[in-house]
Amino acid sequence: MNKVTTICGWFVIILCLVVWAGWQFDIPILRTLLPSAPATTPLTMIILLLLSLALLVSHKIVTEPAAGQWIWVCWALAGIAVLTGVWIGLEYIFRFNSNLEFILYPELISQQGGTFPGRPSPHTTVSTILVGLSIATSPLSGQFYKQLTLFLSLTGLSIAWLALFGYASLTNPFYAVPGNPETGMSPLTALGIVGLVIGVMGLRPNEGFLRLLTDSSSGGQMVRILLPVAIVAPLIFGWIIFYGGVDEVLSSAMIFALSWGGTSLLFMALVIWQGFILHYRDMEREKAAEESRRLFHQLQQAEEKFRTILEAAPDAIVIVDEEGRIVLVNAQTEVLFGYKRDELINQPVEHLIPERFQDRHPQHRHQFSAAPRVRPMGAGLELSGLRQDGAEFPVEVSLSPFETAEGRLTTAIIRDVTENRRVADQIKRYNAQLKQQAEALEQSNLELQQFAYVASHDLQAPLRNINGFMQLLQHHYRGKLDEQADDWINRAVNSTRQLETVIHDILAYSRVDAQTRPFEPIPLNEIFDELTTMLAPIIQETRARITRDNLPTVIGDRSQLTQVLQNLIGNSLKYHGNLPPQIHVSAKNGDDNWLIAVHDNGIGIEPQQHQRIFEIFRRLHSQQEYPGSGIGLAVCRRVVQRHGGKIWVESELGRGSTFYFTISQIPQ
Ligand code: ADP
Repeated sequence: MNKVTTICGWFVIILCLVVWAGWQFDIPILRTLLPSAPATTPLTMIILLLLSLALLVSHKIVTEPAAGQWIWVCWALAGIAVLTGVWIGLEYIFRFNSNLEFILYPELISQQGGTFPGRPSPHTTVSTILVGLSIATSPLSGQFYKQLTLFLSLTGLSIAWLALFGYASLTNPFYAVPGNPETGMSPLTALGIVGLVIGVMGLRPNEGFLRLLTDSSSGGQMVRILLPVAIVAPLIFGWIIFYGGVDEVLSSAMIFALSWGGTSLLFMALVIWQGFILHYRDMEREKAAEESRRLFHQLQQAEEKFRTILEAAPDAIVIVDEEGRIVLVNAQTEVLFGYKRDELINQPVEHLIPERFQDRHPQHRHQFSAAPRVRPMGAGLELSGLRQDGAEFPVEVSLSPFETAEGRLTTAIIRDVTENRRVADQIKRYNAQLKQQAEALEQSNLELQQFAYVASHDLQAPLRNINGFMQLLQHHYRGKLDEQADDWINRAVNSTRQLETVIHDILAYSRVDAQTRPFEPIPLNEIFDELTTMLAPIIQETRARITRDNLPTVIGDRSQLTQVLQNLIGNSLKYHGNLPPQIHVSAKNGDDNWLIAVHDNGIGIEPQQHQRIFEIFRRLHSQQEYPGSGIGLAVCRRVVQRHGGKIWVESELGRGSTFYFTISQIPQ
């Protein structure tokens, strides 16, 4: 678009060269364009040449920011042209003749007709002054100068335009002084001036009139349609009427009426057509405006919702731009960090981070923007926030990026985890304490076991001695001392035997964990059969009946499992009522264990004792009723536990008992 000025400038220069050739080689048609029209004088040609050069310089100034000093060249060229015009104006006004008109080709000019041969016509003078001034003001960029330029050039144009219209319709006064057709504006001059004015407008294609011409607005559209018609229609009418010979047929009143009527009709049609177009455009625009109002309202509502959610959030929410500057924060951020909102907006997010992390933080930010995704920040690290008062507090931060028209933003949701961390620390401390206690307990248990084992083991030998000597005493001195002595000796023998049983049982109990053997497959059938052989004397004595199912082979410690079955069957034999004992051992396949049951028809156990009988030394009867140490079931429980199982009893007083225990099928 900016080429317009250059083209116009060169168009006028070429036009001047054509006129010059007309004078130089005396070819009249090159000076006038139309045979009957006035010629462009050499002086006018010089003025037009100066103005076209000034226009090209102005173009340079407007398009090249560094070419400001060229304005003096522009003003010098335009100034000479304008001053020449003014001088001629003064000649007309004060009716004198300075011979400036004869500056070139004086002989040829002298042959010209007219009142002032060689002098530019008044029309030319005025319009070149106006256009010259407009070219001089055209490089200035102030709004006032722009409007002045437009005003001057359009006024100058209107004179040239009327002259051209005059030629089209042969209306003499439009281009010449009435009665003096030789002293009019030459059509070539008029074209030159039109070219200069278009060039001036082309200097700033994005402003003013040219902008309107190219704009997609309603105004632009209207100008584009009506203006060419307004320009061309009168020319065509004039041409048809005066060159087509209509004026010889119709009276001038008729012609006037016809041309006005025709123009009026044409413009009516155009105005109505344009009116419709503008009307529909306006309606569409109103619709679009309504729609955009609706969208704006929706947007406002959405924004309000967003704000409400943001402000109600229990965590601090900080939105940060790509440079790490804070764009938005919520109320909780103010509470958590102790800043006012205004103090944070536009500040680097590093403000909220303890100083020792600030240096590294921009690097972390860049890493995040290189691969942005929703994630917790500093996974595995303990992060801290920095309050305005300098206090630090532990935080958890999660980041999520999102794209906007202004670039990528990152939302950081920051949670104060002071309380969580405190609780976690406490739990950690408790756990450590608990572990310590458990270890201490285990240690003391171990020592206790060791003690029980060593004590019972070491007590066995002296006790065996005492027992031996007591039996010797009983054997050798029965009936030889008095009756009292015999009784005492008997009691001592019984007590030592009992003590021997207790110590034996304690030893068995402490051996469960102290003396272990590797687990191996153990066929329970075999164990059962060995036991019944071993217990045959008691079985016979009590006339007991012992039966079993087909028992499985389990994985475990042979001697310990033998002990369990021996204790349970032994108890069933011991705790029978008046009837001879009936004992049955059965087995059931569980999910991942075996369930073994020892059932008897003995005296039974009260439900409230079901748990307690498994405690060590817990007995329900006196030695006189049923002798025993109260350790057997405790041993059973420890062995079963060691094998990954449980032991319990189901029983009612006087209705027999069933002892159950499980053994894991998966080796422990
Ligand atoms: P002890 O038999 O040496 O007394 P136990 O630990 O084997 O010690 O048994 C603890 C108590 O459980 C016994 O004193 C007895 O009262 C009761 N008990 C054990 N087995 C049976 C059973 N089969 N029938 C009835 N009571 C039993």
